Amino acid sequence: MTMQLKGIAASGGISIAKAYILTSPNLEVTERKVASPADEISKLDQAIKAAESDLQKLKEKITNDQGAEAGLIFEAHLTILADPEYMSAVKEKINGDSVCAEYGLSQVSDMYITMFESMDDAYMRERAADIKDISRRVTAYILGVPLVDLSLIDEKVILIAEDLTPSDTAQLNKEFVQGFVTNIGGRTSHSAIMARSMEIPAVVGTKTATESVQKGDLIIVDGFAGETFVNPSVDLVGTYKKKQEEHLKQKLEWSKFIDKKSVTADNHHVEIMANIGSPSSLAGVLENGAEGVGLYRTEFLYMESEESPTEDEQFEAYKKVLEGVNNQPVVVRTLDIGGDKELPYLKMAPEMNPFLGYRAIRICLNSEKELFRTQLRALLRASIYGDLKIMFPMIATVEEFRTAKAMLLEEKAKLVAAGVSVSDSIEIGMMVEIPASAIIADQFAKEVDFFSIGTNDLIQYTMAADRMNEGVSYLYQPFNPAILRLVKMVIDASHAEGKWTGMCGEMAGEELAAPLLIGLGLDEFSMSASSVLRTRSIISKLKKSDMEVLATEALQKSTEIEVVELVQKTLAKASV
Ligand code: PEP
Ligand code: MG
Repeated sequence: MTMQLKGIAASGGISIAKAYILTSPNLEVTERKVASPADEISKLDQAIKAAESDLQKLKEKITNDQGAEAGLIFEAHLTILADPEYMSAVKEKINGDSVCAEYGLSQVSDMYITMFESMDDAYMRERAADIKDISRRVTAYILGVPLVDLSLIDEKVILIAEDLTPSDTAQLNKEFVQGFVTNIGGRTSHSAIMARSMEIPAVVGTKTATESVQKGDLIIVDGFAGETFVNPSVDLVGTYKKKQEEHLKQKLEWSKFIDKKSVTADNHHVEIMANIGSPSSLAGVLENGAEGVGLYRTEFLYMESEESPTEDEQFEAYKKVLEGVNNQPVVVRTLDIGGDKELPYLKMAPEMNPFLGYRAIRICLNSEKELFRTQLRALLRASIYGDLKIMFPMIATVEEFRTAKAMLLEEKAKLVAAGVSVSDSIEIGMMVEIPASAIIADQFAKEVDFFSIGTNDLIQYTMAADRMNEGVSYLYQPFNPAILRLVKMVIDASHAEGKWTGMCGEMAGEELAAPLLIGLGLDEFSMSASSVLRTRSIISKLKKSDMEVLATEALQKSTEIEVVELVQKTLAKASV
């Protein structure tokens, strides 16, 4: 019998494939005395062999897909695993104390981890993360709950998981992973955002997917409606295959807008740009006719490697993006780590409220100034290869913006003094994603070149509703008049100073948002590449003058639902 799971529509599209359950194994280890240490040592040896074989496969796969340098991470893991000192110490521990294999391994690994973590040399400190990883992998084999390597999936599946971290999502191979369904998460959690940019249909926040689905069950994911069907009837599969075809037809219709400018029916011009997380997404930007990159989330560059990318590595990535968009603008956001995006090699203490905690620009202006300056230098050096704009995330106070800008200008002056070419026309802006900065946008507007509204965070902070928590996802209300009023304040403040405002939060790509944002006077929209053509098509049918009337009326409504109904009515009248 078909079972239906309702969740949050995280990434549009329909997929039908077999379930692949992704469990996070419990790797908790306790001390257990054993009668036969020899048996434990043979368990350990088998686990090492199995881990070795995994690492070998991963190394080959990553080297093939991403080049030799990326494969080096696994080469390093193999070397550590083969280090006789490490594993002999584990065996001595098992023998000497008559303890189980996993306990012996955890004791010795913890000792090495503490030792490496306390070293001054950054390179050695990063080895601690390697040992953690290796020890996890071997422990999983000892306990009989092997880790799943997402990048090794080689058949068409729909992933079913408690949650996917952004780095899990980054490993997904679109050819095989046709969709995913998670228990937790919201529309603006980063795994959902990445699913949209990779065009993988996804439903999140179903609460019970991992309990309700068995390996191999047939699954339909409807990422438009947030529905998942488990073991659907033949009829239902037929219905959804038809829906898939209709969607393809619709996409063909939108593709007519690929070479067009983004203009309303009364000739008002805006820019529609794409959000990216890595240079590898450039193809999507071009294929979808985006007019540049409105948000390059650089933290993924930091998350993809085991250690902080060097200035040269960053320079190459930024140059690639600037050159890859045919001289169109690229807005690069400086490191926005924290919240749901972790960096294993940045020692960040666990926090009660990570989204309200030590993250993004707060880290860059305090404990990680050098990391920040390295990024700024890489950006400045790359600036001559295109039309670069730089913005800072999570700005709450004018002082933060001033300090960040001053550091950028200092690095620029040093580079210029050293004879390095740097562009003279880099615009310097900020994200508006904290209500405090929206409220005094008039003050900020005197100092910035542009604003980009990050509605994912602006909504979570305005509504006091964690963007990762499906229990409060009903408070993610982009159309709430409170949000619209903040958006208006920011746009008006920028225009009063002759500056421009963009929006790079997910709201910018919402179908019903375009009419309101046009009416409010937004200058630039930045969204998942897959939404660009649809938005351009919608905008082409709207008149700015009508949308101004709509926005004025919407600002006076008291609930989100009233605003949504008003927009729907207006669109129906305009036959959009
Ligand atoms: C936002 O907060 O809207 C935004 C674009 O940034 P991120 O989603 O990366 O936090
Ligand atoms: Mg944000």
